[in-house]
Amino acid sequence: MTHLDYPHLFTPLDLGFLTLPNRVLMGSMHTGLEDDPADAPRLAAYFAERARGGVGLMVTGGYAPHPQGVLTENGSMLTSPDQLPAHRIVTDAVHAAGGRIALQILHAGRYSTQPDLVAPSAIRAPINRFAPRPLAEHEVEEHIDAFATCAALAREAGYDGVEIMGSEGYLINEFLAPRTNHRTDDWGGTPANRRRFAVEVVRRTRAAVGPDFLIIYRISLADLVEGGQTWDEVVSVAEEVAAAGANLLNTGIGWHESRVPTIATSVPRAAFTSFTARLRPRAPVPVITSNRINMPQVAEEVLARGDADMVSMARPLLADPEWIRKAASGRTDEINTCIACNQACLDHVFGEATASCLVNPRAGRETDPVMQLATTPARRRKRVAVVGAGPAGLAAAVTAAGRGHHVDLFEAEQVIGGQFDLARRIPGKEEFAETIRYYTRRIERTGVALHLGRRVTAAELVAGGYDEIVLATGVTPRLPDIPGIDHPSVVGYPQVLRGEVPVGARVAVIGAGGVGVDVSAFLTHATSPTLDVPAWRREWGVADPEAAPGALATAAPEPPARTVILLQRTGGRIGSRLGRTTGWIHRAALAAKGVRLVRGVRYEKIDDEGLHLSFQHGRGGPGHTDHQLLAVDTIVVCAGQEPVRDLLEQLRAAGLPVHLAGGADVAAELDAKRAIDQGTRIAAAL
Ligand code: NAP
Ligand code: SF4
Repeated sequence: MTHLDYPHLFTPLDLGFLTLPNRVLMGSMHTGLEDDPADAPRLAAYFAERARGGVGLMVTGGYAPHPQGVLTENGSMLTSPDQLPAHRIVTDAVHAAGGRIALQILHAGRYSTQPDLVAPSAIRAPINRFAPRPLAEHEVEEHIDAFATCAALAREAGYDGVEIMGSEGYLINEFLAPRTNHRTDDWGGTPANRRRFAVEVVRRTRAAVGPDFLIIYRISLADLVEGGQTWDEVVSVAEEVAAAGANLLNTGIGWHESRVPTIATSVPRAAFTSFTARLRPRAPVPVITSNRINMPQVAEEVLARGDADMVSMARPLLADPEWIRKAASGRTDEINTCIACNQACLDHVFGEATASCLVNPRAGRETDPVMQLATTPARRRKRVAVVGAGPAGLAAAVTAAGRGHHVDLFEAEQVIGGQFDLARRIPGKEEFAETIRYYTRRIERTGVALHLGRRVTAAELVAGGYDEIVLATGVTPRLPDIPGIDHPSVVGYPQVLRGEVPVGARVAVIGAGGVGVDVSAFLTHATSPTLDVPAWRREWGVADPEAAPGALATAAPEPPARTVILLQRTGGRIGSRLGRTTGWIHRAALAAKGVRLVRGVRYEKIDDEGLHLSFQHGRGGPGHTDHQLLAVDTIVVCAGQEPVRDLLEQLRAAGLPVHLAGGADVAAELDAKRAIDQGTRIAAAL
C-alpha cells in the first residue's frame, strides 16, 4: 500500500534475490565496539534495536581485510575464521529482530594510523604522521584477494552482504585518484589503470561470494581534494564496478583530508544529493545518496525528485533507532533528530572512545543497566519537580515522566531549550531547533506539566510536597572584572543572539571559547549559508562535479556583515577546546569572514574610545608592555558562565532530596552531551 506522507520512502526496492522493505540504508559508522570481540553483545544490541525500529538494511563500521589496512593499531579486521563467532552474535541478533546487515570492508591504505601502512604510492597523508610504503605488484594482488576472502568470511558469518569502501580517501580511492597514485605499472598512469584495483576488488569479491549476496560499492562522487578524479572517471568507475558485480552504488563525498565540511551541522541538508542525481541516469544499478539527510521530509523530497533510489543515514539512526517506525506511523514530530554535531559519535570514535549520541545517550549503551532503567516504569510513582527547561532539565523531565512519575517542569523563560534556544539562532546551528521540537512533543506525550514563565521559589517547592527535585537552573554569563565593563558599548551574548541589542559595524568579542566563536559567526553572516545550498557551495569552494576534478572551486564567501576581532587572554590556538571533527570548520569559517584573532591580551579598560588592551612581553621583548586601542562600537562578552544554584541551600536546608544537573552542576564545561546524559541518568534513578 502506498504510504500517504512518504510514498517514495516506503516503496520496497527489489534487487532480484533480495527485496528491501523501504528506501533507507543505515550507513556505516564506526562505533568503537567493532575492535574487541568481547564487545560483540553490545554491538549486537545496538544493531538489533535499530532493526526493530524498521531499518531495512544496515552496514557495520569498517573491518579491514588485511592487517596492513586497519584504521588504528588494534583496529577491527575480518581476516580469519577464528573471528566468526563474534560476528555471528551480531548477525543472529539482527536477523532475530527482522533486519538485514552488511559488513563494510574498509582498507585504510595511507590513512592507517599504525606504522606498517601501505598505499599505491609513497605519499604521506597530511592527516597522518606515518608515511605509507608503496605496494609491490605481487602485494597489490594479495590485497585484492584479501577483500574477496573477507567478503567470503562475511557471508559465512551470516551477513547479508558487504559494502566495499571505495571512497573517503581510503586505499581503493587512493588507487583511483592521480593525487595519490603515481604508479607507472599496470595499476597507475592512465585512468583505466587507476580503476583496475577497484574493479578487480569487486570482480574477485563477486566470484568469492556467488550471485545471491549483496555487494554495495561506496563510490567517491567528489574527492574534494586537489588531484581528485574527473567526473568522467567517476562515471567510468560506476559503470565498471557494476559490470564487475556490484548491486548498489552508495555515495561517498570528500576525503578525510579535504578542507570542505561534508557532514557537519553547518552543511545544508541534502547538500550533495545533486551529485548522486547526476550519476543516476548513467549508473547501471540503483544508487544511494547520503550526507545530511536527517528527517523523513528531506529523504522523501530527494527520492521524489529522482536524485537517488535510496538514502543512507547513519547518525540519524543513532539519534533515534525508531526513526523509520515513527515516520511510517505518522509520528514524524516525535523523531529525535540528529543535529549533526558529531560531539558524541565521531568525536568519540576519533578520540578512541565508544560512539554514543548527544541527543540520545542510550545509543551504543543499549545494554547499560542505567539506560535500560531509563525506559522502565518506576516501582513507585513519585512527585518530581524539575527546575529549568534546558537540555538537562528536559532530559530529566521527560525521562522521569516516561517512567510514570508525576513531573512539574518549571521554566523562568517563556520558551524551553535553555542554551539550545540561543544555539539555534547561530548560522549553521539551525538544527538545534529540532531538539526543542522533539522535547516539546515528548513533554506532551509523557504528560509533563510544563510551567513556562515561572521563576519558582524554594518556598513554593517546599510547599509543593515533592519527593524529588532536579535543579537544572543552568548558567549565567560571567561578567569579567574590567574597568568600564558597565559602559553602554558592552553587551552580553544572549542579548546579541536574541536580537535584543543593537550591534555596531566594528565589534570586539571578549573570550574565544565555543560561544565566542559562534557569536563571531553570527555577527559576520548576514544570512545563513546553511539554508542555501548554492551560497554554501560558494562559501566553501565546491564546484559542479563536471566542472573541475575533485569538484573543487575557489572559495568565494560573501563579504562579512561586520568587522569582528576575537580576543583571548591565553596564547593557545583559538577554539582549541572545540570538537575534534568540527573545530577546524569553525576556524576556517571565521578566517573566511576576515575575523581577526588576537591572543595573549590583557583587558585594561573600556571607555568611549573603545577597548584598551595591553600585551605583556610585546615587540619590545621581555618586561616590555605594548598597548593597543580597539576603536570598536560594540564589545560582546563571551567569557564563560557561572552556575545558577540560588535554590540549592534552601532546599537542602528543608531536607528535600535535590539533584543538580547540567550547567547548574558544572558550568565550566557547559556541555549539552553531559547535560542530557546526566538528566537522563538522574531520572533513571528516581
Ligand atoms: P568557555 O569555553 O569557558 O570560554 C570562555 C573564554 O572566556 C575562556 O576560554 C577564557 O579564555 C575567557 N574568560 C574566562 N574568564 C574570563 C574573564 N574573567 N575575563 C575575560 N575572559 C575570560 O565558555 P564558552 O565559550 O561560553 O563555552 C561554554 C562551553 O560550551 C564550552 O565547553 C564550549 O566548548 C561549549 N560550546 C561549544 C561550542 C562549539 O563546539 N561550537 C559552541 C558553544 C559552546 P581566555 O582566558 O583565554 O581569555
Ligand atoms: Fe547526530 Fe550529534 Fe548524535 Fe552524532 S552525537 S548522532 S551528530 S546528534
